[in-house]
Amino acid sequence: MKIAIFGAGQLAMMMIEASSDLGHEFIVIDPASRPPASEIAKHYMVGYNDEEILKFVASECDIATIDFENVDIGALKYLENHIKVSPPSNALKICQDRLYEKELFTELGINVTEYHSVDNINDIEDIVFDDKSDYLLKSRRFGYDGKNQLKCDEEKELLNNLLTKNDCIIERIVDFKTEVSLICVRQDEDTIFFYPLVENFHKNGILRYSTFPYSNTSLQGIAEEYATNLLNYFNYVGVLVIEFFVSNDGSLIANEMAPRVHNSGHWSIEGCSMSQFESHIRAITGQLSIFAGDFKPSIMMNILSKYPKSEKISELGEHYMHSYNKEERNLRKLGHITKVADQKEELLKDLKRYLDILDN
Ligand code: AMP
Repeated sequence: MKIAIFGAGQLAMMMIEASSDLGHEFIVIDPASRPPASEIAKHYMVGYNDEEILKFVASECDIATIDFENVDIGALKYLENHIKVSPPSNALKICQDRLYEKELFTELGINVTEYHSVDNINDIEDIVFDDKSDYLLKSRRFGYDGKNQLKCDEEKELLNNLLTKNDCIIERIVDFKTEVSLICVRQDEDTIFFYPLVENFHKNGILRYSTFPYSNTSLQGIAEEYATNLLNYFNYVGVLVIEFFVSNDGSLIANEMAPRVHNSGHWSIEGCSMSQFESHIRAITGQLSIFAGDFKPSIMMNILSKYPKSEKISELGEHYMHSYNKEERNLRKLGHITKVADQKEELLKDLKRYLDILDN
């Protein structure tokens, strides 16, 4: 099949790499020059809603998918009239707006933190009677990796700046034990599976590392129940990831969803017999039959800002390095490293040393 991926970043690159044996042809669409996936697929360097490219994809491709959330909904809707599109435009529309996302989670019985839509500082003051430091102000749109978020006790000028430029919500800060994510795959109502929960550790709102599997397996059931509601609501096809907080009282609180493969699933390239990338392509092309989930304990560490020197990398011992061939930039995700072992404890005992190696 001919598959168009909107966005040609590392996620597109890894989707294409993972499906080398599946017999598909890929094109990637991205306004950036030389994005990661342009090395391995035909790259159209145009905007995501360029009319010519949309007509071309509608007439020449069988399926369209994304590696990036902020693709124009109108573009996906147009394509949905002609070819298969995954994720459905409705899922994309919801995930592009934190308010819609929280409203839908609530409607489907998925636990979320207290939230309110706000227009100005007075709204915040009307809602937050007690301590402003308990709340975060977040833009509804374009707020990934901790961008466009401030604590509500920040200076008024900063808050005002965010509020005047964006539609916003405030949400109560969750006192969490840890953060986990559930990688879900759905081809149709009879073919759905979930990877075991993965534990995620963020620094400055950006994923620093993930460890797999999460030790508290008792939360898997409720996470899957929430996810099933969401997948069926959208009649979803492909990979969808839900990020949760595990609160101090042990309950699961959904933070957000990503209707695509996700950074917290990168361990699955080496840590599972079928990676999230292969699962996604198989699901959208109807090639997903049985899932033989052969999992290995894994840790995945992002390479942020600067590539580590090769002599430092060798101190990591046996590992799998994935470079996205991007230019170095502060807090940019440039690659990742995965280590697998028979026991998770083996990986955890040296984790701090590994992270220090990558930070230097
Ligand atoms: P987000 O951009 O919503 O994915 O947030 C990025 C990270 O900021 C999350 O993974 C958390 O570590 C932190 N964060 C976001 N919202 C909250 C919240 N309501 N309570 C506590 N931490 C949060």
